[in-house]
Amino acid sequence: MNKLSEAERYLLDAVRRGDEQGWPQLVERYQGRLLAFARSRVRNASDAEDLVQEAFIGLLRGLERFRGDSSLETYLFSILRRRIIDSHRGRARSVCLLRDTLRTSDDDSDTGPEARLPASDPTASTYARREETRGEMHGALAGAIGGLVQGYKETLNFRDLQIIELLFYAQLKNAEVGQAVGADPGHVATIKHRSLARIRKHLMDQQEGSSSGTDQPDIPDALLTEVWEDHRPSCPKRSTIGGYHLGTLDAAWQDYTDFHLNTLGCRFCMANLDDLKQSEDRADLDRLRQRVLQSTVGFLKKH
Ligand SMILES: [Zn+2]
Repeated sequence: MNKLSEAERYLLDAVRRGDEQGWPQLVERYQGRLLAFARSRVRNASDAEDLVQEAFIGLLRGLERFRGDSSLETYLFSILRRRIIDSHRGRARSVCLLRDTLRTSDDDSDTGPEARLPASDPTASTYARREETRGEMHGALAGAIGGLVQGYKETLNFRDLQIIELLFYAQLKNAEVGQAVGADPGHVATIKHRSLARIRKHLMDQQEGSSSGTDQPDIPDALLTEVWEDHRPSCPKRSTIGGYHLGTLDAAWQDYTDFHLNTLGCRFCMANLDDLKQSEDRADLDRLRQRVLQSTVGFLKKH
């Protein structure tokens, strides 16, 4: 399923056509949020800029194969995140700040979602290919989780949405989830059971008619977290985060966005909020954009 917005499609078309304005516009649109994310993961400011630069090069190298299974923002975030992991400049950490806060003693830092990813990869094109394979593998599961999240949002059932974010996105234990949202661990277990059943049903409905049988698929928690991180089904839109910042959302959405940013601590969305707040930092961004444009001019000529 194509997840690109009209603006993203327009920008990508412009870049693919070789329109001179296309690439600078695309870089300008995404660099701020990517830099804010990199800075939250990497202490050294110039390392953070290098990694953002590499992420943009990675996008250009994989441009032919990118089909829009996720939004352009999510795709860029995921290339950047893997560059950060591969560079060993950021220790293995969850995307959710809350998980890191609860796991202060590095006891499970080697078993976090990022530690399960394959180790370093030599080239950006191998990278993009891996992205693609992962995309296909996870597509079905992403659809199932997306449907579940959509259902919660449409019915404004933010309470249960928060519970499954804490369970599957932040990979917390039932008791920790209960504490975070002030719910009984038994209720958390019920929500977990119910949502897993719905995800399984969605997967089985999709399999119907194919030859792959009707076994109840087993879904490891770790896989759910990976898919959640790659597809970000629950992340509010950037415009919603902007509305939150201005305080213009409906109360239910304001509360939920506050939870997602400040309790769960989704680093992708925190980066977006930082970027929205830090528009005064434009000099840095102008310099970074010049760097990205200079280092990608050779790739553009090929397209
Ligand atoms: Zn988010």
